[in-house]
This record gives sequence, structure tokens and C-alpha cells, in this order.
Amino acid sequence: MGEFDLIRRYFQRPAAAGVDVGVGDDCAVLAPTPGARWLVSSDMLVEGRHFLSTVDPARLGHKALAVNLSDLAACGAAPRGFTLALALPRVDEAWLAGFSRGLLALADAHGCPLVGGDTTQGPLNLCITVFGEAPGGQALLRSGARVGDEIWVSGMLGDARLALEVFRGTVALAGDAFERVRLAMECPTPRVALGQALRGVATAALDLSDGLLGDLGHLLAASGVGARLDVDALPRSAVLAAQPAALQHTCVLAGGDDYELVFTAPPGARLPDVGVPLTRVGVIEAAPGLRVVDAQGRDLAHGLRSFDHFAA
Ligand code: ADP
Ligand code: MG
Repeated sequence: MGEFDLIRRYFQRPAAAGVDVGVGDDCAVLAPTPGARWLVSSDMLVEGRHFLSTVDPARLGHKALAVNLSDLAACGAAPRGFTLALALPRVDEAWLAGFSRGLLALADAHGCPLVGGDTTQGPLNLCITVFGEAPGGQALLRSGARVGDEIWVSGMLGDARLALEVFRGTVALAGDAFERVRLAMECPTPRVALGQALRGVATAALDLSDGLLGDLGHLLAASGVGARLDVDALPRSAVLAAQPAALQHTCVLAGGDDYELVFTAPPGARLPDVGVPLTRVGVIEAAPGLRVVDAQGRDLAHGLRSFDHFAA
């Protein structure tokens, strides 16, 4: 199978609404909504770095798009389309069929069509660029947190890191418990509806990809504020809650791959109900830096760091 047959078979779909020209020409042509701004983000997934070679291809397809949709969600954008740059070591039709099924199922669920890309031979590597829209002036940014705002997180934190520790062999879990945390790692749910519902409500937001400590630190730095974080309030699954306290702290504070939203809102703000649990986990303070305390108010000497690709 050649490059163009491969693209036609696995990645070309019937025309979608709002897309004048999709896969097949030199450029995609998209129609912007009047008054809207484009929001654009790219995320790359490298084999051995972001995923294991043994991962189910349908789950990999899902995750490759999910991590990009999560960035749109963080900014309160509605998905409009995406491009896929793909390096493949060889044409493996079973793999391609699974990958495109997982990828395009999530794309269909969010009305976010694949409109173009690039395909080349090389070490397995996926890069998606996603395009979304938000009304002018309404995108959620990292820089809007104000002293006194409350800090909220969606869903539950730390399961993906717990699954990673099982793969690393440092933790053992029973079969069904492992399947649940493995799903969190391999099949994250981007909070797209929540992000849009937070427009005009949240003062600042971002999505959690590298771990709460570091990611929240980016929000604090961008907003020029500090925060106090209640570690015991951080929402976690029953599987994670059954682990030793130190491991729980590592997973909820420094685990990556959560793809939940962290946002700030003034006390008493009317938070949207889109079927995703929201938990208040801290407060924005004037003093710079992040203070992590437990329910008794004790300072936690955490010494944990978020993931950094180039850290020593
Ligand atoms: P060009 O040579 O003009 O860059 P290509 O030959 O690389 O175009 O690609 C042909 C068409 O297929 C283009 O419309 C491109 O956007 C699309 N395409 C290539 N690879 C992919 C892919 N992995 N997924 C979706 N569309 C793709
Ligand atoms: Mg090309």
C-alpha cells in the first residue's frame, strides 16, 4: 500500500460542516464563525517517551487527539478541526485500522474533523494540531487569577501516574483495579464541554498534563500570584486512595497525564454542571509560591517536581 492509498483508506472522510476543503488538496479551507477567534495548539506523542510500543492502537489514536482537545478545553474553545502529522516505521494495516478508529471516533464525538496532515516513513511519532474557536475576548487564559479566588479541579487526579508505576514495576495492583487506572492513562477524557461552560466564570484555567504542582505553578506565574493547596482535598479514585500516603501524594501532586482542568473562580461563583465533578482544592494568595498543606494545616515538605523533558 502506498502513501496516498493509506491516506485515502484510513484518514480521508466525507466533507464535514464548516470545512470547505479537507484532506486531499494542498491546504484545508475552513470557514470561521463571524466574531470568533481561532485557538490553535499542537501536541506531539513520541514512542517510548509518551506511550509504550505495546499500547492498543485504538487507545493511542484516542489519546493523541484527546491531549490536544484538552488544550482547547483549557482555553474554553470549541473544537473545529485538526491536522495529523504521522511518521510510521512501516505500513501495518491492523495498526492503522485500530489507530484511525480510535482517533476518528473521538473526533466525531466532538465534531472535530481531520482536515489534513502529512505522512512519512520514520520512527513512530504522532503530531496533531488542533483548531478551535471562542468568541473574541472570551478565551480562558492562565493569567487571570486574582488574590482570593478559589482553585478548583475537575474529575480525579493521579490514576494515570499510578498506572505508570505499575508498568514500571514499582506498584502491584489487582487486575480490575489495574484496568481502571490503565484506562485513565491510555484513554483520558478531555473536558471540552466544561471548558466552554467556564467561559465568563473562571478567571484563569489550564489543563493538567505534567502534574499539578508544576502546571499550577505556570498559572500562578502567569497571573503574578501565589497559592495555598490542600493536599487532602485533591480528588482521587478509590484505587489510588487505597495506596500508601506518600504514593498518593506523588500521584496527585506530581503525576502527569491527568488531562483534568484546573481553574480559578471568585468565591460564590456559579459553577457549571456538565456532569463532571468539581472539587475546591485551594485558594489564591498574594505571597508568591505554592504552599501545600494537609487538612490540619501542616506544611507538606513535598520535594516533588512535575515532569520536565529536559530536567537533569
Ligand atoms: P503535499 O505534498 O502537498 O504536502 P501530501 O502529499 O503530503 O501533500 O498530502 C496529500 C493530502 O493528504 C493533503 O491534503 C494532506 O493534508 C493529506 N494528508 C497527508 N497525510 C495525512 C494524514 N496523516 N492525515 C490526514 N490527512 C493527511
Ligand atoms: Mg506533504
